[in-house]
Amino acid sequence: MNQQWRLARTPPAGWPTDGDFEWVEASAPEPGPGQCLTETLYLSLDPYQWGRRRSGAESPGSVCHGRTVSRVLQSRHPDYQPGDYLFNTNGWQRCGLTGDGITDFGYMHPRRLDPTLAPLSSALGVMGMLGLTAYAGMLVQCQPIAGETVVVSAASGGVGQIAGQLAKLAGARVVGIAGDPKKVAFCKARLGFDDCVSHLDPDYPEALRAACPDGVDVYFENVGGKVFEGVLPLLNAKARITLCGMIAQYGDTSGQSPRDTWLAAGSAVFSARKVQVHPLFVGDYVASHQAAFLALMGDYLRQEKVVYLEDFRAGLEVAPTAFGEMLRGGNFGKTLVVVQDP
Ligand code: NDP
Repeated sequence: MNQQWRLARTPPAGWPTDGDFEWVEASAPEPGPGQCLTETLYLSLDPYQWGRRRSGAESPGSVCHGRTVSRVLQSRHPDYQPGDYLFNTNGWQRCGLTGDGITDFGYMHPRRLDPTLAPLSSALGVMGMLGLTAYAGMLVQCQPIAGETVVVSAASGGVGQIAGQLAKLAGARVVGIAGDPKKVAFCKARLGFDDCVSHLDPDYPEALRAACPDGVDVYFENVGGKVFEGVLPLLNAKARITLCGMIAQYGDTSGQSPRDTWLAAGSAVFSARKVQVHPLFVGDYVASHQAAFLALMGDYLRQEKVVYLEDFRAGLEVAPTAFGEMLRGGNFGKTLVVVQDP
């Protein structure tokens, strides 16, 4: 038997509710020629999934999209054998098909994973799309240099923790912005950031100013909203921004796109101070940079120059709840559902 979360409706504006998802039990699919049947081990919960659902890119009645780490159960695919571990896109379901005729969401193609080289779950985080996002935004777009001040929002999250550590390795002074005090402490004690402030602090703008006495040269934007408003006055002339995400604005009910709201809020400062804003879409960097990224990050992990925190949630049943919590800061590290313990 298969178990699935399907999208019940195109969600209205706001944050996820129980009415957005439907639990379905069905027979496991049979692999056709060129396909294999895999069981989902880890399911990645990511903020972009909410954008897909709200925009109508995901149709009501379809299995909720999500990247996964899976194990091959049956194979009619020439490259995959039963027992192989794959990065693939099973979505929010216990088992799914990979191979000919199965959509893999364009830019992150299925690949075999070697569990002796890196923990399997890392293919959904530090050694996957999130790591490449941090690498592309921080090292390819913003290129911090020694002595510069780099600010990272959602600093303890999946992307933020890597982005900040890459800036530290480049010699920059790194200041994180996070929510809960335990996240703030983690950024300083475990990730080695020079400072970290909480956006929940009523004096957040002043605390951030105090943490950045020389202004801000690079800002890695994951959040938007009032977090961004605190950074904006601190931007130095010719500062660089990676516009990676605006998660605080994804439930926006104004009707304006989060990006337009964000650009409107910053435009006067950007033009007066010649700030470079780099919009980021990780898919643009797969063909050009994924191989170099995987080699570099593999070395950093082996040398323990980069550490990485994952937030594991047990059981496919909890996916909608864990997803809603993650969108509002209830996660601590990269959010993953353990569908089947490997
Ligand atoms: P995270 O693991 O960082 O989880 C989201 C975090 O966002 C929360 O833990 C919370 O951290 C913070 N957050 C949520 N709501 C608010 C709010 N209202 N105010 C302040 N902080 C909030 O998620 P990811 O690492 O997966 O994603 C981080 C960002 O990167 C997202 O914006 C995402 O859309 C973007 N992204 C963009 C990609 C691209 O191609 N451009 C690719 C992948 C991700 P805290 O509690 O510390 O505030």
